[in-house]
Amino acid sequence: MRMKAAVMEATGRPLQVKEVDLQAPKAGEVLIKIEATSICHSDFNALHDPTTPVPAILGHEGAGIVKEVGPHVTKVKVGDRVALNWVPYCGVCEYCISGEFHMCETAFEPMFNGTLLDGTSRLVMDGKPMYHYSLLSTFAEYTVVPELSCVKLPPDMPMAQASLIGCGVATGYGAAVHAAQVKPGTSAAVFGIGGVGINAVQGARIAGARQIIACDVKEQNLEIARQFGATHTINVGKEDAGEALRALTGGFGVHYAIDCSGNTKATESAWMGVRKKGVVVVVGAFGSSMMIRLPAGGFHRMGKTLKGSFYGDVQPFRDFVTISNLYLESKYKLDELILNRVQLEDINAVFDSFHQHSCVNVGRSLIEFSSQVPLPSFGGEKAGRSYV
Ligand SMILES: [Zn+2]
Ligand SMILES: [Zn+2]
Repeated sequence: MRMKAAVMEATGRPLQVKEVDLQAPKAGEVLIKIEATSICHSDFNALHDPTTPVPAILGHEGAGIVKEVGPHVTKVKVGDRVALNWVPYCGVCEYCISGEFHMCETAFEPMFNGTLLDGTSRLVMDGKPMYHYSLLSTFAEYTVVPELSCVKLPPDMPMAQASLIGCGVATGYGAAVHAAQVKPGTSAAVFGIGGVGINAVQGARIAGARQIIACDVKEQNLEIARQFGATHTINVGKEDAGEALRALTGGFGVHYAIDCSGNTKATESAWMGVRKKGVVVVVGAFGSSMMIRLPAGGFHRMGKTLKGSFYGDVQPFRDFVTISNLYLESKYKLDELILNRVQLEDINAVFDSFHQHSCVNVGRSLIEFSSQVPLPSFGGEKAGRSYV
């Protein structure tokens, strides 16, 4: 079939909106009509990454409707409304059978090669194969994805909000709820208030943390964090975060710290700011040459834990539905994460805005291919909704 898509033709060059061909889904794959897709910094990074194979269709945060299923598809059917998950898994490896689906490595090789799970492409431009991105390629009217990338949504879940769930929302929520396992009545610090960090704040709130302390260098982000449930804020550009966290917790330090910053200094501050037996969860990605330096004295006596978390330890088929239901019950903020709604043709302007220091990187610009329902402005409260 012919469809409109935003095509990455070369590293760092603006995307070109043009007509391309999409082939029918093969075994274990489904054809999705994209209803909404949000634009993530990871797409921007992929555009500027010389290892991204081109020509490609970027986009990895989306929701849509199943229009056709390939052979042997059993988990979804035509007409299902789904959110997309960029980490499909095999179901039979050691990690999968122990329930750690996010650790399955099945998706990585095809993801890096720009193909689907069978190592081939369904995308064609000017008669030649082109590359997928993250097995999803949502910057297009339609896409073919693995059935295991499709999470069925509750009937009332709107597509725009659903399109946000599969990346930063699930990662941040999962980092607090599953990786840190925040308990009611505790204290939790979140370092780095961006698209992931703001959802770690929400996850800590949902998990019942009594103190939620947002740590960032931007006052604007700290103010936004308060709107999403932070009870305290620390400007880490002005204060020593470790000291400030201890001061806010009677000298003990917080029970949990979730580092979404990608900055090793933040990890080191988080380590100093958690109490004995405290847990530091690192979600942000570091450069391969970076080192974390921690004091060795008293290490054994403190009983602290430092752990990494990929994709917030989420299980998409459980957590996407949980987050959707929390949203529908007015307990999880997604409306406020939508900065604005744009056309596919506006995508380069959105990427350009990422260069601006003032860019609010907490929310998302969203492309919708059908409905145009107005939303409140960023940070506002939807009329009639009260969030807990
Ligand atoms: Zn993303
Ligand atoms: Zn597996």
